[in-house]
Amino acid sequence: MQEASGLARALPVASLLPRPVPLQAHARLLDSVASFTHHRDIDALDHSLALSLAELAPAREVLLCKRAADGRRLESLVRCVADATGEFAVGACDPDERDPSLQPVWHCMDSQRSHVVAGEDSCHRLYVPILHEGRALGALQLESHSTLDGARALAEGFARIYANYITLLNESERDKLTGLYNRRTFERHLQRMFRPVAVARRPQERRAPGPGTPAVWLAIFDIDHFKRINDTYGHIYGDEVILLLAQQMRTCFRQDDVLFRFGGEEFVVLLSGHDEAEVRGALERFRERVANCVLPQVGRVTVSVGYALAAAGDYPESVIDRADKALYYAKEHGRNRTYGYEQLVARGDLAAEAVSTGSVDLF
Ligand code: GH3
Ligand code: MG
Ligand code: MG
Repeated sequence: MQEASGLARALPVASLLPRPVPLQAHARLLDSVASFTHHRDIDALDHSLALSLAELAPAREVLLCKRAADGRRLESLVRCVADATGEFAVGACDPDERDPSLQPVWHCMDSQRSHVVAGEDSCHRLYVPILHEGRALGALQLESHSTLDGARALAEGFARIYANYITLLNESERDKLTGLYNRRTFERHLQRMFRPVAVARRPQERRAPGPGTPAVWLAIFDIDHFKRINDTYGHIYGDEVILLLAQQMRTCFRQDDVLFRFGGEEFVVLLSGHDEAEVRGALERFRERVANCVLPQVGRVTVSVGYALAAAGDYPESVIDRADKALYYAKEHGRNRTYGYEQLVARGDLAAEAVSTGSVDLF
C-alpha cells in the first residue's frame, strides 16, 4: 500500500518533467548540424544553415542576414523558401539595407535579442541574432503559419554554432598582417561578383542582369623596389609599409570593391565599373595617393598597377595572368604607373593572347 501511494505521489512529479525527446529527433538534429558544419565555404555554409533550420523548425521561409564589418551595410542575404509542394529553394538575394521589410531584422541585430512576432497576416515570425563577442554578426528570420515559440531554442542554438564556425572560417580567409582577404578566397569572391541574384526577396523584385550591368575588373598592385625598403630599414619597417598600404586601399576603394593581399607585397582588387575609364580613374587615384603620401621613416613609396577585364566564363588564372602582364609592362616602363591589358593590346604594345575560356564554367 505504502509503495503504491509512494508511486502515486511520484506520478504527478514525473508528469511535470519535460517529455523525453525521441532519439530519432536527436539524431536528425545532429545530422543537420554535422552536414551544415561540413562546409568550408561560407556561401555553402549559409545556404545549408538556412535549409537545415527551415526543415527542422519547420518554417516556410528562413532568412539569414549578415551585416558588414562597418555595422551599417548588409554583407549578404540568403533566403530559403518553400514552394507550393513544400520543396525548399535556397539562394542569395540582393542585400539592400534600405528594404523596409528588413527593419525587424535590423532591430534584432541592434537589440541583440531574439523575439517572436505574430503578424497581422496570420504569419508568425521569429528573429534570432547571431552574436559573437558582444557583436551581432547578423540575424535569422523564420516565418511560419504556426507558432514558432518551440523553434526559438533550436534557432538560438544554431545561431551560436554558426557564429563560432563562421568566425573560424572568416579568420582562415584573412591575411594575418593586413586583415585583407587572402589568395585562398579569391576564386569564391570572383564567382560572387558574377553571380546573378538567385532567389529574389519577393518574386516581383527579381532582377535580371541587363544592359548597364557593371563589368568586373581585376587589378594587381606591386610595391616598387620593395627589396630596397627591406634592405635599408629592415623587415619590420617593410611590414609596416605593407600595413599602411592596406589601410590606404581600405579608405580609397569603395565598399563593394573586394581587396586581397595576394602574397608578399602584391595586392589584388576586384572592382566593378560601368566602363574602363571609371575603373582606370579609381586605380589612378589610388596610385597617386600612395605616391603623394610620406610614410614615417621610409618616406615615399610607389606602386605599379596592372588591370584586366574579367569576363564570365574566364578562368580566374587567365584574368590574373592578363593583369600581371599589364603590371609587368608598368614595371618595365618606369614603375609608378597604371596599365590596362586590353588597352595595351589595342594599341599594339602587347601581343593579344588566345582567349582561354574553358568548357568548365568557373564563374
Ligand atoms: P619591383 O619594383 O620590381 O617590384 O622590385 P621589388 O624590389 O619590389 O621586387 P619584388 O616585388 O620581387 O620584391 C618582393 C620582395 O618583398 C621580396 C621579399 O623580400 C619582400 N617581401 C615579401 N613578403 C614580405 C613580407 O611579408 N614582409 C616584408 N617585410 N617583406 C616581404
Ligand atoms: Mg612583388
Ligand atoms: Mg615589388
